[in-house]
Amino acid sequence: MSGESRMVPLPVAVPGERWDVIVAGGGTAGVFAGVSAARAGARTLVVEAFGSVGGSGTNAQVTPLMRNVSSGVNLNRGLTDDLKRRMIARGDGAVDPNGNDNWFNPEGMKYVLERMLLEAGARVLYHTHVVAPMLDGERLSGVIVHNKGGLQELRADVFVDATGDADLAVAAGVPFMAGDEDGVHQAMSLRFTLAGVNLARLNDFLGPLGQGSSDAAFLHFWMVWEKGSRLEPLFREAVARGVLLERDGDYFQAFSMPGRPGELSFNCPRIRADLNDGADPWHLSDAQVDGREGVERLLAFCRAFLPGCEDAYLAAYAPMVGVRESRRIRGEYVLTLDDILECRTFPDAVCRNHYPVDIHTVRSREKLQHTTTGDAPYFRKDTFHEIPFRAMLPIGVTNLLVPGRTASATFEAQSAIRVQQNCHSMGEAAGLAAATAAREHGGNVKAVDAARLRVELRALGANV
Ligand SMILES: Cc1cc2nc3c(=O)[nH]c(=O)nc-3n(C[C@H](O)[C@H](O)[C@H](O)COP(=O)(O)OP(=O)(O)OC[C@H]3O[C@@H](n4cnc5c(N)ncnc54)[C@H](O)[C@@H]3O)c2cc1C
Repeated sequence: MSGESRMVPLPVAVPGERWDVIVAGGGTAGVFAGVSAARAGARTLVVEAFGSVGGSGTNAQVTPLMRNVSSGVNLNRGLTDDLKRRMIARGDGAVDPNGNDNWFNPEGMKYVLERMLLEAGARVLYHTHVVAPMLDGERLSGVIVHNKGGLQELRADVFVDATGDADLAVAAGVPFMAGDEDGVHQAMSLRFTLAGVNLARLNDFLGPLGQGSSDAAFLHFWMVWEKGSRLEPLFREAVARGVLLERDGDYFQAFSMPGRPGELSFNCPRIRADLNDGADPWHLSDAQVDGREGVERLLAFCRAFLPGCEDAYLAAYAPMVGVRESRRIRGEYVLTLDDILECRTFPDAVCRNHYPVDIHTVRSREKLQHTTTGDAPYFRKDTFHEIPFRAMLPIGVTNLLVPGRTASATFEAQSAIRVQQNCHSMGEAAGLAAATAAREHGGNVKAVDAARLRVELRALGANV
């Protein structure tokens, strides 16, 4: 062998099929966009990097759905209702004694969402990354994807970027925002699941500490330094004994899951503060390593300090690092904190939200959350604000929609609208608009009549 290196060219992209709608990323918003577009009659392809749909909700193991209720009514209906009905029917979803219907099993959800997609007539292409846009002026004519077949071109009239990081939109030149005013993002977390837990015994222990449940099948317990959790002394002792690091108490939370007796899903460990950009490949990779070390510590803590967890074992690391916020497109409307606090409504609204501003900041121990206190109208229980269709319409590209956590919003506003049920509703609206644009407007999503879109969404059960 000579010492000379030789560049081997990648195979040239080969043309694939042509579609009405291509959804990049079959995650929380993307799978809903796919179902919605296909039910509206569009030939729809969902391109997904992992081997299952559901995104953060399934592959990052983000359970349960956060409640989004105003005046006793769930604000996200339509396809979300359909999903919940199916999940509950197979025991992968459940309603707790307080009427909260947001508990679910992430593994079961993979199957249910896939069924919904295929029943609607959509196709899915797994293990495939969307890697580059094909641009024709302000219009996307196709995307280049990469998978085991090498590089391929896929063409469509309309595209939905539901990658959670605006991969396609940003590559197509759409202006975007990232992080707070200094570019610092919310904390990432690597979620994990423990099995072999005696939930009844654990519940008996948590009860006197104010974190028990009337039914051990619906457990939720937490500890954040200086937030009044009566688990705090245990964490102090664990840090003193070297079982945990100080930062492990910056955020600790666990939930049980329906259909999975003896298991707990953990919304932690938080990833090291300097690794906060989920769109930076090195941060993401190092987060996986840092997260696994954290899981190791938390496993030891649970076994040693939590009655009922003595024989617990690690059932699974989430395959996907949990990214709360990375890039947000600049769209035709940028949702702001004032829109939320003032409960603003919009003539082109596609989603209603009452979930609070919820920033898992890496700047300090604080989790900045507007819960029930404050003077703004938003703090009343019977209120909501809306998300306009324009927040999914990126500047500069005519046949692209961007629903989900990357929709056009400021850092603070995104922290409120990012929860899963809102991503469902945005995805559902984006899919329906994409199908309409493909059928009636030569792909131009900006020509879609938002008032008519709302009427059609309402007819499908959506709360808009
Ligand atoms: C740790 C954590 C805890 C949270 N807690 C809660 C909670 O308790 N309840 C709640 O309701 N919400 C919670 N959230 C928020 C919520 O889960 C997310 O904001 C939401 O699921 C994001 O949805 P999305 O569709 O925008 O992105 P995702 O669901 O992440 O979907 C993106 C999809 O695109 C795929 N993809 C990415 N890039 C490409 C590419 N280039 N080509 C092809 N495919 C690609 C990914 O594999 C993925 O499937 C939490 C989030 C995190 C990270």
